[in-house]
Amino acid sequence: MLNIVLFGPPGAGKGTQSEKLIGKYNLVHLSTGDLFRKHLGEGTDLGKLAQSYMDDGNLVPDEVVIGMVRDKISKTIDPKGFIFDGFPRTVHQAQSLDDMLSDFDTSVSGMVSLEVPDEELKIRLLERGKTSGRADDQNEEKIDTRVRVYKAETLPVAKFYDSKNKLNAVIGVGGIDEIFNNICVVVDGL
Ligand code: ADP
Repeated sequence: MLNIVLFGPPGAGKGTQSEKLIGKYNLVHLSTGDLFRKHLGEGTDLGKLAQSYMDDGNLVPDEVVIGMVRDKISKTIDPKGFIFDGFPRTVHQAQSLDDMLSDFDTSVSGMVSLEVPDEELKIRLLERGKTSGRADDQNEEKIDTRVRVYKAETLPVAKFYDSKNKLNAVIGVGGIDEIFNNICVVVDGL
């Protein structure tokens, strides 16, 4: 199986690039943000629990996220592989992902880290907030919280994969297709 962790700050373009990657490599897109928004839309208990954290720009507790990911992996029939988008976001989540995948006799093939400067992220998120309806993209304070949480809790995940020689940085600024091609070069070498 080809299992890719697509990593990067909020607004780095993970969702956009995931859509292109699933088409080319026939992978299953597992976006924890999308899964939470689906639960929220359906008014499930999990959605209600996640909402307060998401609204403030904080992380949903690890055990909640991990349980949801495990459920999604175990319900996917005969996947060629996964693109993990927005997960893992803490080192604990990364360790749990290793455990989960080894239960399914597979592992993370590599991480692709999209590198985008802070100033560019803020512009992109505020722009997305105008059309996406996402409350967490419409307010500068919430965006700042997410970027701060990313740096404090999520950046260590890159070190975790780096220590396993699985970290691959790709510049996330430029044309969508140009960035995609650079990601494909990495993925083809995994
Ligand atoms: P973005 O990449 O723009 O921050 P996401 O759609 O990935 O957006 O996530 C939106 C929100 O959902 C996050 O701010 C967080 O509250 C919650 N969330 C998503 N994935 C995780 C995760 N792996 N761990 C904890 N919280 C998460």
